[in-house]
Amino acid sequence: MQKTKRDRTGEKYGEYTIISPTEKDKVWLARCSCGREITVENGRMWKLTRCKSCAAKLRADDRRPKKDKYTEMKNWMKPKRPKFDHEAFYKIEDRDRFYQPVIGKLINEYGRSASFEITNWHEVDGKELRKWNHRINVRKEKVVEIS
Ligand SMILES: [Zn+2]
Repeated sequence: MQKTKRDRTGEKYGEYTIISPTEKDKVWLARCSCGREITVENGRMWKLTRCKSCAAKLRADDRRPKKDKYTEMKNWMKPKRPKFDHEAFYKIEDRDRFYQPVIGKLINEYGRSASFEITNWHEVDGKELRKWNHRINVRKEKVVEIS
């Protein structure tokens, strides 16, 4: 009586799937989930996990600091503390545009800049200010609160 060979096609071992028998007895073709193929003997199939390339990739992924969704969400929700106050007056020293410091109230605050409505200025800067309609946008480091 002839012993029928067990068809292992389609069996899964780790990331490997048995694809087909080979010309050699008891040797099968197995394919990793990434597509790399190896041949494997019957007795060694159970040892299959993943190919070297996939294993290396997995180790690299482990080394990367884990950033879970919760932490990402928390960082995203963290309020960005506003630097300026709508009630206060600010002194703006923008030497590129104005000879003298100008005084203004906050209109809008952005990341690194803010816009101000200029309320007080030296007459030498009047012309320049009219050009901006007395509303200017400046970098925050040029601005100090007047206490
Ligand atoms: Zn692989």
